[in-house]
Amino acid sequence: MIVVMKPNCSEAAIEHVLRFLEQEGFTGHLSRGVERTVIGVIGSVNVQNPPGKGMITPALGEALEAFPEVEGVFRVSKPYKLASREFHPDDTVVEVPVACVAGGTVRIGGPAVVMMAGPCTVENEKQLMTTAEAVRKAGAVILRGGAFKPSTSPYGFRGLGEEGLKLLAKASREFGMAVVTEVMTPADVPLVCEYADILQIGTRNMQNYMLLDEVGRAQKPVLLKRGMAATIEEWLLAAEYILSQGNRAVILCERGIRTFEKSTRNTMDLSAIPLVKQLSHLPIVADPSQGTGRRDLVAPMTLAAVAAGCDGLLIEVHPNPEVALKDGAQSLTTEQFAELMPRAEAVAQAIGRSFVTA
Ligand code: PEP
Ligand code: MN
Repeated sequence: MIVVMKPNCSEAAIEHVLRFLEQEGFTGHLSRGVERTVIGVIGSVNVQNPPGKGMITPALGEALEAFPEVEGVFRVSKPYKLASREFHPDDTVVEVPVACVAGGTVRIGGPAVVMMAGPCTVENEKQLMTTAEAVRKAGAVILRGGAFKPSTSPYGFRGLGEEGLKLLAKASREFGMAVVTEVMTPADVPLVCEYADILQIGTRNMQNYMLLDEVGRAQKPVLLKRGMAATIEEWLLAAEYILSQGNRAVILCERGIRTFEKSTRNTMDLSAIPLVKQLSHLPIVADPSQGTGRRDLVAPMTLAAVAAGCDGLLIEVHPNPEVALKDGAQSLTTEQFAELMPRAEAVAQAIGRSFVTA
């Protein structure tokens, strides 16, 4: 349930409600919006709860309604709570430090669309530096690149590991870009946090709940890919895991889902973008590379995703896709990426938005 405080309520009143909730066996999740402050109260079915504690009851609602600075108490109808628009009516904006932009911060989920680009996988220094330089020059401000790669086949390339993270950090210093890279296990979270600005959770790990818990305790934004067979509700519940551990900097990423269609690697669910915007306050980015699996479809689906209202894009680029160790068929050349940027900017402008520029 959510407790809506009266406009301009005092800090003491908020504190009072939080303390009461604690006594009743709940943690209050505070959200300060432009218009109002709300406190989320989440019940849990936990065998460790003392008898009668931790369950949302009508009596709890009545007790909270009696507080003088509480305006009202409402039930959140969705199974995900902290991720829902009901709990947090304003858009969440995730701030990422990026040296190459004016002011040194990129806001994901604000009016400007953010371009994240780079190779699927970090292969070697030359490949990464060439790609980073090219995508940065074309307008990307966040560098993507996998160091720990999930591979469907155990014989596929599984990434350079920490060596790849070091190369990403080097490219980040050299070109002033932030880095988004995947973390695959809870044990690797501290290591990846040392090098990355955004932790990517891959499609195969969207329901790895131990990993979601761990990144939920990390002090870095998380880019949460949609599971390839996950419903939007399951995806938002995965986001809820991260949010409920205290990390509010969650960015969703639509990367295509499994359907009966075989001519594309995945079916890119563009309608998920405006729908997620209605259901949740979290920013959403689009990955047309995994979304289609085909280089010739990446540009049109990028433009379509911008038109559908995405807050950012994650695009694979390789200096020579023919020899890429992973995902070459869906990687743009650096030239194709440079041609795409102004077209994506034109679509953003047509819907009253812009792109973050470096
Ligand atoms: C990737 O971004 O290269 C990747 C492995 O993505 P996904 O988890 O969406 O397959
Ligand atoms: Mn890839």
